[in-house]
Amino acid sequence: MTERHTPRIVPLVDLRSASLRPPAEAASASSRIAANGLLSDALGRPLRDLRISVTDRCNFRCNYCMPKEVFDKDYAYLPHADLLSFEEITRVAKTFVAHGVQKIRLTGGEPLLRKNIELLIEQLASLRTVEGRPLDLTLTTNGSLLARKARALKAAGLQRVTVSLDGLDDAVFRSMNDVDFPVADVLAGIEAARDAGLGPIKINMVVKRGTNEHEILPMARRFKGTGMVLRFIEYMDVGATNSWRMNEVLPSAEVVKLIHADLPLVQLEPSNPGETAERWGYADASGNHDKAAGEIGVISSVTQAFCGDCNRARLSTEGKLYLCLFAAQGYDLRSLIRDGASEADLASTIGHIWQGRADRYSELRSEMKPDTGTGLRRVEMSYIGG
Ligand code: SAM
Ligand code: SF4
Ligand code: SF4
Repeated sequence: MTERHTPRIVPLVDLRSASLRPPAEAASASSRIAANGLLSDALGRPLRDLRISVTDRCNFRCNYCMPKEVFDKDYAYLPHADLLSFEEITRVAKTFVAHGVQKIRLTGGEPLLRKNIELLIEQLASLRTVEGRPLDLTLTTNGSLLARKARALKAAGLQRVTVSLDGLDDAVFRSMNDVDFPVADVLAGIEAARDAGLGPIKINMVVKRGTNEHEILPMARRFKGTGMVLRFIEYMDVGATNSWRMNEVLPSAEVVKLIHADLPLVQLEPSNPGETAERWGYADASGNHDKAAGEIGVISSVTQAFCGDCNRARLSTEGKLYLCLFAAQGYDLRSLIRDGASEADLASTIGHIWQGRADRYSELRSEMKPDTGTGLRRVEMSYIGG
């Protein structure tokens, strides 16, 4: 039995019930913060990107995210009444947009498992940025339900999708999702998304050394020239259940080197500030970017900290605001809205919370000894979304 197949039971500390109280000064008339699109945090970072987790459930059990030993039949998912309703999500999202958010990503758990998700998309698609433009509205999915839902999602106003796909080899894929789900069905979902016009499509591949690194080149070849952007994500120490180890991280620099040896690459400029992926384009015979061949991205959350322009906020399934993917606690916005907060109260609270934000976990981690992390407890990725 190889090491990665050895079941490792990890005690799950349930951090979902822990929450931070919104700052008291948010309610005082003298220190109100109105939403004018110009909010910035304690490190000068604006608020541009909101990720909303719409469910903590998933039909996959990727071992780096929801390992079976923990997320088993006895696992206590959130009861429906604890979830933010679509109206509540839209209300909170509207306030974030008034503070400067331009991009909303729906995630989870598996977002397509949330019943009638199209209705939420319709509501979010009607929001306008401070400049009066439609939002960049997208969704990250494991692709399992995409073939069935792509058209309805597009019709509801979704602009594009990111599909997670960790390999093309059926056996590797089935073992990584750990529910024996066939890769062909996800590929059919990607095709359906393309046919429905949900593009440009991004494909996310989490790379685990010793598990799927041999899938890197076949994936690169498969998506080269298709207009889809394949992004390689370093396996991260999110949550407390995936028994993360540094020696299972394949640094992005190695991914680039491996692809470059076969399919030459040139580095491209970042498309916008706060962009998580480093971009590499396929090169033509003279070493210039061949636009028709397209590009790949590498997300080096472990080996290269990128907190400096992190402009992302995360809203958990039950309405807690997290300021960092690695935060241990979130601010309870659901209580605030269920207790009857006005628009001005909500805007002021979010304003104060963001202004006080100094999170930079990845940078702190890279200052620590390898394989240790910062020792802080963290919530699960399936709960606050990726
Ligand atoms: N279920 C959807 C999916 O898989 O696309 C959306 C939620 S999932 C938590 C969002 C993204 O986080 C996915 O692309 C997934 O591969 C990534 N992810 C989850 N756990 C991770 C880890 N430990 N390291 C790196 N990425 C991870
Ligand atoms: Fe589910 Fe996505 Fe996590 Fe995999 S990465 S277990 S598909 S939420
Ligand atoms: Fe942003 Fe936290 Fe990730 Fe740094 S570690 S980039 S602050 S989410």
